[in-house]
Amino acid sequence: MKPSEVAELLNEPACSHNKKSKSGCARPTPGASAGGCAFDGAQIAMLPIADVAHVVHGPIACAGSSWDNRGTRSTGPTLYKIGMTTDLTEQDVVMGRSEKRLFHAIGQAMTSRQPPAVFVYNTCVPALIGDDLEAVCKAAGEHFGVPVVPIDCAGFYGTKNLGNRIGADAMVRHVVGGREPEPLPDAVVADYAARGIKIHNVNLVGEYNIAGEFWHVAPIFDELGLRILCTLSGDSRYHEVQTMHRAEVNMMVCSKAMLNVARKLEDTYGTPWFEGSFYGISDMSHALREFARLIGDPSLTERTEALIAREEARIAEQLAPWRERLAGKRVLLNTGGVKSWSVVSALQDLGMNVVATATKKSTEEDKARIRELMGPEAKMITDGSARALLNLMDELQADIMIAGGRNLYTALKARLPFLDINQEREFGYAGYQGMVELTRQLALTIESPVWSQVRAPAPWATAQVARHRPEVLDEDDLILPLDDEAAPDFAVEVA
Ligand code: SF4
Repeated sequence: MKPSEVAELLNEPACSHNKKSKSGCARPTPGASAGGCAFDGAQIAMLPIADVAHVVHGPIACAGSSWDNRGTRSTGPTLYKIGMTTDLTEQDVVMGRSEKRLFHAIGQAMTSRQPPAVFVYNTCVPALIGDDLEAVCKAAGEHFGVPVVPIDCAGFYGTKNLGNRIGADAMVRHVVGGREPEPLPDAVVADYAARGIKIHNVNLVGEYNIAGEFWHVAPIFDELGLRILCTLSGDSRYHEVQTMHRAEVNMMVCSKAMLNVARKLEDTYGTPWFEGSFYGISDMSHALREFARLIGDPSLTERTEALIAREEARIAEQLAPWRERLAGKRVLLNTGGVKSWSVVSALQDLGMNVVATATKKSTEEDKARIRELMGPEAKMITDGSARALLNLMDELQADIMIAGGRNLYTALKARLPFLDINQEREFGYAGYQGMVELTRQLALTIESPVWSQVRAPAPWATAQVARHRPEVLDEDDLILPLDDEAAPDFAVEVA
């Protein structure tokens, strides 16, 4: 990838942050790939396309470092779960045979799995030795008779966010527009027509179906007659990505990283788009209203309002007993980007008090939204180190830390309730029904009896003191204080 192409992706004009800063996103600096390199970002964003063979061109460690670390689920094909790499070695580099190796790896993927397409991810080593990725992919595509998509995302190009954008850009350049959507079965069309429902095509960009959470939301789209042509990229298929140009509206789901897709689809095909979130009742309803507003079908608007009223009432009833248990509980939220406000909104829906939220990766727009939700005094976390987080938990008297998996052991070592909200989580929290699951997990975490047990002095400590130092009677003295070693400073959390 040429430096000018990297600069173009960093200067995404649809990003409000870039509008304010002349220089666009920060340029990569040595060490900037800590927390995920560009390859990691591109692969993590495109890996959920379930029926594609994802081949990593590079040393095996690159494939291993980012493999399957997002708990995305598929309703059908599982080819995306199979790790494929050219496994380059020193000998391949010295003997100049890495391009040949890539060609054969594509052939092996084709003959053993027959995927509808092969995606090839470039990494640092082949980029440094000058492999011509595009030429090899083109030759392999012609030879094997399948689309082979080059994703030039060497780690040293920049950060994980840039990688997301590179992956998305490859989709727009090589895949979108490749075919027309399949016609719906006659029976389905007749069924909607009989109910007076006109079907509208939409796309979701940046929805990853983590822990299968989108399955909470999909039935609502079906009910409203909103046909999802593609979710880029959770539980999607190659041929669905090819049809994205036919959507009437695109929604950017909780992510600015793939903003370039929405903007380019608008520039090329005139498709309007909006940013939204499926987390929390009010955001979920807002997203549905935005679809109705942008599509401009009065019948859809009417049905959307009726559905929102019905779902909000249904969920309010289900949440009532949990609300009482969670009301007033204090939350420290350490997550990135758009989630820093969309999850705040969901927690406030439950009557919880978000005492601080991370803004390390948030844009100015995200921060403005946080202030709007939490008030001007909102505590914004800029230092995501373990020690700083623990100090804040203590200072703000938080009842629970909600963060990504990297903070799990920080919280557990400090004997504090912790809920994983990021990509490694095991439960889906999207949509109205996801809100019930989030509430349930919050209550179970905060109320778990394990906290009182781990905070109590160990029985052997009590027994020893009783025997040797009976004058020490205060049990608090028997709980070991946390020291810096118990809570090392991990790298800053990156969602
Ligand atoms: S692409 Fe480069 S930075 Fe990323 S894992 Fe591989 S060697 Fe490391």
